[in-house]
Amino acid sequence: MLAPTEEYKNKVITGLSEDEATSRLRNEGYNELPKPKKRTFLVLTTEVVSEPMFLLLIVGGIIYMILGDLQEALMLLGFVFLIIGITVYQERKTERTLEALKELSSPKALVIREEQQKHIPGREVVRGDLVLLSEGERIPADGVVVSSLNLSTDESLLTGESLPVRKSVWESEEPLVMDRPGGSDSPFVYSGTLVVQGQALARVLATGPRTEMGRIGKALQKVETAKTPLQKQTRKLVRLFAVIGICLCILVVVVYGINRGNWLEGFLVGITLAMAIMPNEFPVVLTIFLALGAWRISQQRVLTRRVPAVETLGAATVLCVDKTGTLTMNRMSVKQLFANKQFYEVAAARDAENLPAQFHRLLEYGVLACPPDPFDPMEKAIRELGKCREEEFGYRHGQLELVNEYPLSRKLLAMSLAWKVPASGGYVIAAKGAPEAVAELCRFSPAQSEELLGQVARLAARDLRILAVAEAHYMEDSLPADQRAFNFEFLGLLGLADPVRPTVPASLQECYRAGIRVIMITGDYPGTAQSIARQIGLVPNNEVITGPELDRMEDAELEKRIRTVNIFARVVPEQKLRLVMALKANGEIVAMTGDGVNDAPALKAAHIGIAMGERGTDVAREAAALVLLDDDFSSIVRAIKMGRRIFDNLKKGMVYILAIHVPIAGMSILPVIFGWPLMLLPVHIAFLHLIIDPACSVVFEAEAEEAGVMQRPPRSPREPLFSRRTLGISLGQGISVLVLLALIFPMALYLGEGEGEARALAFTTLIVANLALIFTNRSWSQTVFKTFRLPNTALWWVVGGALVVLPLVLYLPLLRELFRFSTLNLLDLALCLVAGLVSTGWFEFLKYIRNRPAVTPRRAAGRTIETVLCEVPKLPEKERS
Ligand code: ADP
Ligand code: MG
Repeated sequence: MLAPTEEYKNKVITGLSEDEATSRLRNEGYNELPKPKKRTFLVLTTEVVSEPMFLLLIVGGIIYMILGDLQEALMLLGFVFLIIGITVYQERKTERTLEALKELSSPKALVIREEQQKHIPGREVVRGDLVLLSEGERIPADGVVVSSLNLSTDESLLTGESLPVRKSVWESEEPLVMDRPGGSDSPFVYSGTLVVQGQALARVLATGPRTEMGRIGKALQKVETAKTPLQKQTRKLVRLFAVIGICLCILVVVVYGINRGNWLEGFLVGITLAMAIMPNEFPVVLTIFLALGAWRISQQRVLTRRVPAVETLGAATVLCVDKTGTLTMNRMSVKQLFANKQFYEVAAARDAENLPAQFHRLLEYGVLACPPDPFDPMEKAIRELGKCREEEFGYRHGQLELVNEYPLSRKLLAMSLAWKVPASGGYVIAAKGAPEAVAELCRFSPAQSEELLGQVARLAARDLRILAVAEAHYMEDSLPADQRAFNFEFLGLLGLADPVRPTVPASLQECYRAGIRVIMITGDYPGTAQSIARQIGLVPNNEVITGPELDRMEDAELEKRIRTVNIFARVVPEQKLRLVMALKANGEIVAMTGDGVNDAPALKAAHIGIAMGERGTDVAREAAALVLLDDDFSSIVRAIKMGRRIFDNLKKGMVYILAIHVPIAGMSILPVIFGWPLMLLPVHIAFLHLIIDPACSVVFEAEAEEAGVMQRPPRSPREPLFSRRTLGISLGQGISVLVLLALIFPMALYLGEGEGEARALAFTTLIVANLALIFTNRSWSQTVFKTFRLPNTALWWVVGGALVVLPLVLYLPLLRELFRFSTLNLLDLALCLVAGLVSTGWFEFLKYIRNRPAVTPRRAAGRTIETVLCEVPKLPEKERS
């Protein structure tokens, strides 16, 4: 093996060739741990079959067989297969969706191949690749450090040791044998561990299962499947239903058995009832909605790492966002120079070719204060501007060797690079950073600082981000540990422009209409922050709290001030956690963005942590619930809108499920109590499920958002899925259907129509009412006539299917007998139609009344039954704009 340092020092960093990489990938496999086995069709089927619902169907089938009714038995089994089919399909789809999301969120690696830097998926890294590691990244494979700038990593995952360890560079020529992880100053880095500081170039020695991580066999990067509050609520609901159901079943079996002396039939009735009330749709619907929800949100360029975030999103009351990169484009360009008491306006980068001499040193040291191949957009911009003096700088800089970096810290917002000058043996040091920090480095007197801040204010008022630059020389052998030890000379200021993202002002207004506050957090100078805030329309006031002020503030005072202050400047990431805590203490539901290593605690603490996909670090991404693929503020707002829609639809779906179970359960019990012939048999229930299952999952899931979703306040997170009002509406819908059925069925019997006709009448009415329930619950704010034209393909499939199969069941003799129907005539059908529609008519009427423009024309637009009928979700007391 090559001695890596030699190769690196000579700067022939070619890396692997693409051909070599491809062939290694083929021979050695992807850089990933063996995946847990996929659930096979068989496993899925067994899971589905072991659900109580299917056991019931099967037991029903067996009883029919005992009763000698083979046809009915086969029919039920047929349904079993059909429903298994649908369920397996849904499960597969859900699984595939989650897998696709996982794929998207898997880490990328920056490698050098054929002399080019290249981002590739982490799983495509091969042995021998040169990978560039920088702060905040997860190391993609095991390797050896061949060049480094202050690299230290967190290996707690492998060693349990939580302190970061420093890494050294591999210098010797010996063949490489990797050590086990642990201890300081080892040159080896390990897959799955984190870079907490510095940068390095490492050569990959082992990938996939051959890494230390692979040996331990820990699976990383799972999309978590923790139980969400909604899941818990649903679980409770299911349990409640199950208990009530079982009690009712036993009661019905006993009553039937005693009254009619036929226990076998009694069991059949019991099973029918159990099938009718078994609430197995609730959890299924929840899983599907959240999984598909995550997928839908990903279409908005937002990746869901934690599924609960989908439901929390719609409840967000405060959005805390970074200014740089989220509100602005993070595309910097140098616009102003200030040196020797003079300003210089840079019209275009090339313009600086005839830069007056008094600005030369400022620019030169500005360039030297940036690493040679910078990621940071500010540094890129400075280097870009420096290009115009290439002949001059390039000649000198070619001889300099970068030997140390003094990074930016929480205490001092400035960084310096130390360059060795081979000719003299000494060093030149270039510093840049926040003006206050550089003033400190230059040991400014208070008067000098004051004068400087005056100039800074002038630049800041023009939306510019300001960096100060300083220079120092050092002749001793070993460099000091702290950059403050140098004797810096102040050179001047650079003003950088960072354009606001064009969609931000409109998205901000949308947030305000939706009752969501927006707080801007930035490490930038307060003046710059304020002028950007004005530009994007951040209201209501322009007050700022700075980081140092924050440090001096008691928690209680912060909690009070944060109710009205929307701009936080000169804040370091560590302080974001306090902001989150203060907001949470005020009862807010907090969404917080972040990108760096130090943002992770705040991202974890926030209800919805949002990491940046483009410039974010892996650490931030792993701490966050959502990842913004395009780093754009507007995507967050769109995701919130989607979150609200998903929650609405979930509620609509749940309401529908509950409602439709009422008449089914009722019509299973009433005949037993009143001694009527049975109306519903297992086959009817199974048929109903063929409509109910896809309706509650696909149809409601696909429903578009209500017109007013972003014009109402966020829902209270404490609001249960079934609030008293929702429960009322749902049961109301169900009961009104039941009442009609309970009138039609016995009436038909008493009027001397046979049992078959009564059953056919009631069943047809139930199907019509079922479809009507679907239609009416599509929107809680608009009447059916309005929603009729809204697209929803799934809806029409379900309705179409029902309308095709129903006549078959009614008029195909074979099926008709299986369903125990007699033929209906046209008048009967008309009756069913009217009755079915009437049963949900009242809800439509309610919507109509609420929507009448005469009431309050101005407010009507975004109103839903939601906001009108009910207690508006109680929000914490606070001023909203
Ligand atoms: P923001 O929240 O706007 O991204 P940062 O926390 O990144 O702000 O930066 C805060 C301040 O630190 C900047 O205004 C600047 O003064 C200083 N700073 C940031 N990055 C650099 C850098 N690469 N070199 C010098 N100074 C920097
Ligand atoms: Mg930044």
